[in-house]
Amino acid sequence: MKVFVKGLNTCPQRNQKMDQYLTFLRGNGHDIVATAEESDSILVWTCGFRGDVRDNSLEQLSAYNADHKGKVIATGCLPQISPTLLAETFDGDIVAWTDEAVEMERRFGTGKLSLAEAESIYTKAALCTDAAQFRSDNPEADAIFHDQFLQLMIAEGCPFKCTYCSERLAFPRFRSFPEQDLIDAAVAKMGETGHYDLMLIADCLGEYGKDTGTSLAKLVRRLAEIEPRMRAAFSNFHPLDFFEDLDNYLALIRTGHIHHLNLPIQSANDRVLKLMARQYSKAQIEHCFGRLNQLGFTEFDTHVIVGFPGETDEEFEETVDFLLTYRPKHVLLSQFMDCEDAAAGRLPGKVTPEIMRRRSDMAEARLREAGILCNNEGSELIQERLRRLNQASQL
Ligand code: SF4
Repeated sequence: MKVFVKGLNTCPQRNQKMDQYLTFLRGNGHDIVATAEESDSILVWTCGFRGDVRDNSLEQLSAYNADHKGKVIATGCLPQISPTLLAETFDGDIVAWTDEAVEMERRFGTGKLSLAEAESIYTKAALCTDAAQFRSDNPEADAIFHDQFLQLMIAEGCPFKCTYCSERLAFPRFRSFPEQDLIDAAVAKMGETGHYDLMLIADCLGEYGKDTGTSLAKLVRRLAEIEPRMRAAFSNFHPLDFFEDLDNYLALIRTGHIHHLNLPIQSANDRVLKLMARQYSKAQIEHCFGRLNQLGFTEFDTHVIVGFPGETDEEFEETVDFLLTYRPKHVLLSQFMDCEDAAAGRLPGKVTPEIMRRRSDMAEARLREAGILCNNEGSELIQERLRRLNQASQL
């Protein structure tokens, strides 16, 4: 069968799924084709962590379905994040991530390779040294900050229960990948590419090893012992995990073996953090970010949710003041998405889209004025990212 595979995932983690799908399909004798027109079947990995990317996935699915009725299969995160919306918009075949082994093998299996056997430790060579420059030189290509690094996926799923999170509805059980396999894969890839800036990726990075008796700090130390030129970057690093092992991480920053941190605070107001079930306090993040500032470490960024249910203007301003005090290099502002099965969707005090927009614009203006880079939902930068994502080829 000729299969067209399209990943609409906005995160680097799910590129591992795309790789696994391609290996599985090829291993069962199917041809992967470059366009939907050439295909007998179209597999689309959908994304829905935020309203704009969810709507993008729905629009793209509808467009594929209009042109190729009966051939389109929606996989990935949306079947569990927004099942009702998906069923209302799309009348093709739907395969939820949690059922995918059975469903993919039923549709594409020929007994030669199971989906589980097609999984391997995911590494990806760095695409560029400057993603913005790369995008400017390649107007059709999709490149994000992570593409400046060699990438290594170390765990999947998330054991936390944040009330706003739509992704955890789709994730399979949290699991860390074996430490020695990760080290072998990373060292081999660094040797092969001569690139030593390593982005560790996971849905919840700081939980790495808690299910297997090791830890993220230990993994980084072992990698640094084997390859002293290695500089790790962390994505999706929960501030609670940072707080709980702070001295070990600061020691790795001092030796230069941690080079970049993505620490999504989501809010800096204690009442809102509690409603979000983030499990840390403002005092704890002040302590962590303060220690980074004292060290003179500037390579860290964060994410903030705008308009969580019940959040007041003053509470949001408290978050903006926190950002202006501790000065992350980059801030991603996402407006609260009312996800049908997430607990926060049932909270009172919904903030209107107009207020969310006003708060986002105010935050963006204040952060930019202070020289802090800011990505605001709905911005031209994000529209451009989705355009490139929609066009990019999986091959
Ligand atoms: S919903 Fe989250 S985990 Fe799923 S593809 Fe989108 S960004 Fe990745």
